[in-house]
Amino acid sequence: MTTEWTAEELRATGYRAVDLVVEHLTRLPGGPVFQPVPPGVVQTFEAEGVPRAGAPVAAVLEEFATRVEPWPFGNGHPRFFGWVNPPPHPLGVFAELLAAAMNPSVAGGNHAAVHVERQVVRWFAELAGFPPDATGLLVSGGSAATLTALAVARHRATPAPDPVSAPVRPPTATRAGAMGGDHAGAGAGSGGTLYVGVEGHVSIRKAARLLGIGDANVRVVASDGADRMSARALRATIREDLRAGRAPLAVVATAGTVNTGAVDDIDAIAGVCAEFGVWLHVDAAYGGPAVLLLDGHREARAGIARADSVGLDPHKWLYAPVGAGLVLLRDPAAARAAFSLVPDYLRTDGDVDGVGGPVWFSEIGFDQTRPFRALKVWMLLKHLGLDGYRARIEHDLAVAARIAERVAAAPELELLAHGLSVVCFRVRADDDTNRRVLRAVQLGGTAFLSGTTVGAAFALRACVVNPRSSPADADTLVAAVRHAWREQAAT
Ligand SMILES: *Cc1c(COP(=O)(O)O)cnc(C)c1O
Repeated sequence: MTTEWTAEELRATGYRAVDLVVEHLTRLPGGPVFQPVPPGVVQTFEAEGVPRAGAPVAAVLEEFATRVEPWPFGNGHPRFFGWVNPPPHPLGVFAELLAAAMNPSVAGGNHAAVHVERQVVRWFAELAGFPPDATGLLVSGGSAATLTALAVARHRATPAPDPVSAPVRPPTATRAGAMGGDHAGAGAGSGGTLYVGVEGHVSIRKAARLLGIGDANVRVVASDGADRMSARALRATIREDLRAGRAPLAVVATAGTVNTGAVDDIDAIAGVCAEFGVWLHVDAAYGGPAVLLLDGHREARAGIARADSVGLDPHKWLYAPVGAGLVLLRDPAAARAAFSLVPDYLRTDGDVDGVGGPVWFSEIGFDQTRPFRALKVWMLLKHLGLDGYRARIEHDLAVAARIAERVAAAPELELLAHGLSVVCFRVRADDDTNRRVLRAVQLGGTAFLSGTTVGAAFALRACVVNPRSSPADADTLVAAVRHAWREQAAT
């Protein structure tokens, strides 16, 4: 049994793996955008038991090449416009390799990965207009960013007892809608009321459930005429709740809804939050880069600078490989109070130059052992710079605008919404027909988009987050939809 690889073995495997990366990335655009995994291939995954004897590395890589790599979900293909799934920037792919080679746990400590992550957080804090002492960390995605931020908001509103000195007490019943100063039995109702927009992402509701805020304490705030949370309706809803004895906990505004790309007037919403002393979280998972880096969106940017927390996904519009969300938290003490169960006398603050390093990430977030997520984000920012990102995002916006134009020009199509790089439209027919058209396009292999609802109508939704998508690809997408519609109409 060899326990260690020689330099030659490392190189041979590395070169083969790099060849596989190159083949995947360069062949993608030439193949069908998507094809379902053939049942026979699925069967091979389902039938195979746990390997008893090991196989040579070359055989394992070969299996990847034949059974895994040929069946991607389509993202990375220039005509893939589904959900918000960009291609990885190639440098991000290699950054993952390098991060895994070091394989640190970035819980904390005085090692380079910690300082890289702190620098990345500081860069984004600066872009968001947060103060220099703001904190934050990389998390798995936008959902985890929202969960993290709302956990801090909730803790600020209803602090848990000191973990070390407080006696353990049996859970007490919670009073619905009341603000208890007690986390024991934190069921529905103990955490105050959460305000979300009509188009707020589903992850906000998941976070509300996980934090024990409860569905009943999530208030959906009416939209203005442009799919944005209405600041006026927010104020009225909070007033009404206060009169009824319900304490507001937090407002989640959105900078780029996933459904239609709408950007809330976050400055106006921040004004309402300030008026009532309510926590403002901005979900900028998708739209953050466009809002923070491009001209325009002045109100949203001003509002983000006033927020208590912001979530932004480098694995969306910053083209980092999946597994890179970021949460910024204005108040470092609040973040630490929510997550640190380390008693004061064990905290490492005095050891900035020693082994302990700065305040540990595991004290301001949920995970203990944490991957080196920051490296890919750091490398991409260094390589592309803000200018490179601006050019790519503007390109994506232009391709989305092209899709919208083509849709508007097609008599059988109806444009339903267009915000940032999201375009929602439908064929002028009933919902079922639109669903069939969607499926035909998705399975057709020429282009790929996803479905959603806009208002009450089923819609086809294209989201452009791929600098390799060209105006011609936009045209092909719209042509594929028209073709699928003609085929439907003919049957
Ligand atoms: C994608 C998205 C989320 C969820 O982020 P994940 O990275 O998928 O967990 C939340 N909000 C918005 C607006 C998003 O686009």
